[in-house]
Amino acid sequence: MRYRCNNCNYTFELKEGKRLPKKCPYCSKENSLERVKTAQELIDEVVHLGEE
Ligand SMILES: [Zn+2]
Repeated sequence: MRYRCNNCNYTFELKEGKRLPKKCPYCSKENSLERVKTAQELIDEVVHLGEE
């Protein structure tokens, strides 16, 4: 799983089963981390959009 801080754009990998830290490890801003979608997930979304 890959996460990104939307404050400073720091990205990092988090192993599955590990808890997402509350603060960005780089800039220490709280609640700024969000999951980065993989290329495959983006492709899946596009596929689903055309399925209605
Ligand atoms: Zn940050």
